[in-house]
Amino acid sequence: HKEPVPDTAPVLLQGRGVSVSFKIKEGFFGKNSFELKAVDNLSLTLRQGQTIGIVGESGSGKSTLGRALLRLISSRGEIIFEGQDLTGADLRRDRPLRRQLQIVFQDPYGSLSPRLTVGQIITEGLLVHEPELSRKERDRRAVEALKEVQLDPAMRNRYPHEFSGGQRQRIAIARAMILKPKVLVLDEPTSALDRSVQKEIVDLLRKLQREHNLSYLFISHDLSVVRALADTVIVMKEGKVVEEGLTEDVFARPQKDYTKELMAAAF
Ligand code: ADP
Ligand code: MG
Repeated sequence: HKEPVPDTAPVLLQGRGVSVSFKIKEGFFGKNSFELKAVDNLSLTLRQGQTIGIVGESGSGKSTLGRALLRLISSRGEIIFEGQDLTGADLRRDRPLRRQLQIVFQDPYGSLSPRLTVGQIITEGLLVHEPELSRKERDRRAVEALKEVQLDPAMRNRYPHEFSGGQRQRIAIARAMILKPKVLVLDEPTSALDRSVQKEIVDLLRKLQREHNLSYLFISHDLSVVRALADTVIVMKEGKVVEEGLTEDVFARPQKDYTKELMAAAF
């Protein structure tokens, strides 16, 4: 496992009392509609070079939390990035901010367009964030990004379906890394992969974190992967924090019955 980042490391991203509700319509003409609190008054502090693991069973609000922190969906509470209050900001419009906060999803086959080459996929963000780049310069960045995730740069002229799940996940990581972000939200990035491939992705994420002092919010229902990667862990249930602490402490001495059950189910 990893040595936890000290409390003196600079704070990058902070959520204070973050809540997200969805209006759920049920019954005839949505007669019995109600509010679902997907994230309920949750706070966290992500420091430079730190990995926070978010665990909890399916539906506990992990993905909603990740999206809310990146302002991809609206939420209540405060979200602060490098001292700047993002509350109310629409990061889809604020490009300089947006590029520093990237998200990588689980299913690269679903999220990588089958009609675009690998090179086109990973440079798409550059067209938005660095439109002044020449085609040649973009290609140079694509080569650099593929090398960074330990893929053969020659594959940039091929299509995602030609590659394995692990390779596609690396492509998805390259697509985020090409923008030189400071924070990566990794939403179940290894959940669709075999154990041996999971380990390769974990090793890659560690390498990238070391080299770039990246901060990760690592969302996963796979506790062993979280244990290998996270400095601290937050256990979520029904949108709330059940338990949090240093990864080693939470795994060695879970305090709450829910955490114990979650772990018992995993091993
Ligand atoms: P997790 O990632 O932990 O599996 P999610 O954050 O995806 O959980 O979902 C948390 C809860 O919010 C679930 O009950 C889910 O059904 C609900 N939910 C998520 N997104 C939406 C949405 N866009 N509209 C309505 N309900 C949603
Ligand atoms: Mg999810």
